[in-house]
Amino acid sequence: MPLLVMKFGGTSVADLDRIANAAQKVKREVERGYDVIVIVSAMSGKTNELVGWVEATSPFYDAREYDAVVSSGENITAGLMALRLQEMNVPARSWQGWQVPIHTTSAHSAARFKSIPRDNIDAKFAEGMRVAVVSGFQGLSEEGRITTLGRGGSDTTAVAFAAAFGAERCDIYTDVDGVYTTDPRVSSKARKLDRIAYEEMLELASLGAKVLQTRSVELAMRNNVRLRVLSSFEDTDETSGTLVCGEDEIMESKIVSGVAFSRDEAKMTLVTVEDRPGIASGIFGTLADAGVNVDMIVQNISERNYGDHIEAVTDMTFSCPINQVSRAKKALEDAQAANALGYEDLVVDTEVAKVSVVGIGMRSHAGVAARMFKALAAENVNIKVIATSEIKISVLVDRKYLELAVQALHDAFDLDKAG
Ligand code: ASP
Ligand code: MG
Repeated sequence: MPLLVMKFGGTSVADLDRIANAAQKVKREVERGYDVIVIVSAMSGKTNELVGWVEATSPFYDAREYDAVVSSGENITAGLMALRLQEMNVPARSWQGWQVPIHTTSAHSAARFKSIPRDNIDAKFAEGMRVAVVSGFQGLSEEGRITTLGRGGSDTTAVAFAAAFGAERCDIYTDVDGVYTTDPRVSSKARKLDRIAYEEMLELASLGAKVLQTRSVELAMRNNVRLRVLSSFEDTDETSGTLVCGEDEIMESKIVSGVAFSRDEAKMTLVTVEDRPGIASGIFGTLADAGVNVDMIVQNISERNYGDHIEAVTDMTFSCPINQVSRAKKALEDAQAANALGYEDLVVDTEVAKVSVVGIGMRSHAGVAARMFKALAAENVNIKVIATSEIKISVLVDRKYLELAVQALHDAFDLDKAG
């Protein structure tokens, strides 16, 4: 029988009524002839509550016990979903991660999949079970302990099952009806996309469109799992939501598919750094050791005339999340104090935001950057840092212009119109 994976996030299983609503959607697919693997999240708020209980009990907790506690929210929903399906006369049973068993690494609270053997679940399908309800977010380490995958990990569980079982599609039911060209709260012209390529979704996901855990998209891309994002609060059919898929399945010919942004960025500049081999490695090695996630980097070489001699110097600018600024600052200042780094000044700007245009069409089209900069210039938005990759152009702008910049770019690339 053809097989579907259906994943329901926390808001979609937030109470018994919503579980019943989700079960109804599962039943409909069973009636259409699918065997279904349902992956469930914990009821919304549950995981946060469990994390709070662990932290209140033991500030420097044993990571293995953290996972034992925090993984339990999904088990409640899995059992309730199986019961609800049985009440609807759908042959279903629940599976906790260890029962499958879902083998993962031992990196507690950040575990990765190693393998998902099919035999146990397949044997039950062969006996007439139509729905396997599996707890998301969890697995079993080599040491035989319960692991979790990191927050939002149920998306990744769903994709991993779709890959392991060769599912026709992996449907991610959530509280939004798809992936949009930009955040509808920022631009009223935001449009829901029918399809988006894996690579574009990866850029949008890591840029802050929080619909899917980034790792789930990476895994889907690697295994060619067709992934669909759709609402569990609407009547949905085969064409609902947004399909995340390979480029070959994309019909739209847009050069840019979306405008992403992240509000909480900071820009730091090391003024007058020596220009010689090893300087960048010294600066960014220091930041890496301090756990700072550096994003954009710009280096500008110039000459400095000291009267008696001329030296090649450089200003080094980088961006990082705003909540890492003090950590970055301290690491750089400590390195300077220890004579490991030399610079004249450290300038910090915490009033910036990043805006990016994303699209696989950029690979084959010139002039995207020019069009982007022209649109920003027309609104008098100053660009502070620019970075590009094959399918993305990002700029840092003053945070107070973020909305204006997003709207201008959305207009400039005609994203409100399908095409
Ligand atoms: N319940 C977990 C969380 O809140 C995993 C998930 O829902 O994806 O992070
Ligand atoms: Mg989620």
